[in-house]
Amino acid sequence: MTSKVYFIRAKSDDGPELLSTKAKKVFQKTGLTEDIKKESFVALKIHFGEIGNTGFIKPRWLAGIIGEILGKTSRAFMTDSNTLYTGKRSNSVDHLRLAGEHGFTPENLGLPVIIADGLVGQDDDEVRVNLSRIKSAKIAATFLHLDALLCLNHFTGHTLTGFGGAIKNLGMGCASRAGKLEQHSDIHPWINEKKCTNCGICLDYCPTQAITQKEGSAVIDAEKCIGCGECLVVCKPGAVKWRWDQDSLRVQEKMAEYSYALHYALKSKVGHLNFLLKVTKDCDCMAEDEPLIVEDIGILASPDPVAIDMASVHLINKQSGKDILKAGYKVDWSIQLRHGEKIGLGSMDYELIETT
Ligand code: SF4
Ligand code: SF4
Repeated sequence: MTSKVYFIRAKSDDGPELLSTKAKKVFQKTGLTEDIKKESFVALKIHFGEIGNTGFIKPRWLAGIIGEILGKTSRAFMTDSNTLYTGKRSNSVDHLRLAGEHGFTPENLGLPVIIADGLVGQDDDEVRVNLSRIKSAKIAATFLHLDALLCLNHFTGHTLTGFGGAIKNLGMGCASRAGKLEQHSDIHPWINEKKCTNCGICLDYCPTQAITQKEGSAVIDAEKCIGCGECLVVCKPGAVKWRWDQDSLRVQEKMAEYSYALHYALKSKVGHLNFLLKVTKDCDCMAEDEPLIVEDIGILASPDPVAIDMASVHLINKQSGKDILKAGYKVDWSIQLRHGEKIGLGSMDYELIETT
């Protein structure tokens, strides 16, 4: 089946008002507002950006969409779940403070901001899906009380999954901490001592103190490692290795199955917007201003997370003239799409409909 993906060209320097108008135009095409009744609970799921990151979707770009949704229900809110790794988004207090520092306040947005999985990420419920990798998905509880969900996805490259878009923001982003851990549990990095300079940087980023410095190089304790991938990203000499063909395959398939659990639980009352603006090599979890890998392209919208991610990859690779996402981390990004299609999450076959 061919899915429709709506697209509008945009640049981050269009300015907040024009971007807000453009985002609203493609959002209207998804038809999600037809599912929203007067007292519907509607969540706008976003990544507020790690401290020091500047690539995240800006709150002022969303004014038009928020206005549309508030025209249907006053029970709308902006949300994200807590992270697996330590940092400013691993508990709801720090997370809300950081969201506020990045402009996501009720005053700026016109709606409340809620963290979806409780104070420390343990507030979840299970959704039984019985798929090949996941039998029961552990979802941040707030998402399971919704009448509709709109995922606002900053599309970027990603060290473990090749790219992070709609499938990742939904599957990983809406999982509770236990759900995120389940998806990462197969990642087992190791350190190539010939490449390791023993600088110690990875020790500061490891959330479980799984890395220690021995004579000559750092070493990972596999028993303590939770597979978050932080050490992979921060190691400049590239000494941290992992079996991307096996490890990434499992993470991507689990992520697609978690996305399926959300679509199943919410009876597909889920919409997706991919922002191909400030597309960076890594995701907004990076606590720094990341370099861009392509020029800004625009904003896409679709009810189908597989189709919108497929279309996003095609647009990015067309713009760069090569498979820029694979060039970044040598990861086969297509696994999440192919598995998503196989389990019925969506279709890799899409029709791109450009609007102005
Ligand atoms: S960051 Fe890389 S080079 Fe530095 S200690 Fe860790 S593994 Fe070794
Ligand atoms: S060793 Fe690396 S992947 Fe494992 S928990 Fe520490 S930072 Fe995460």
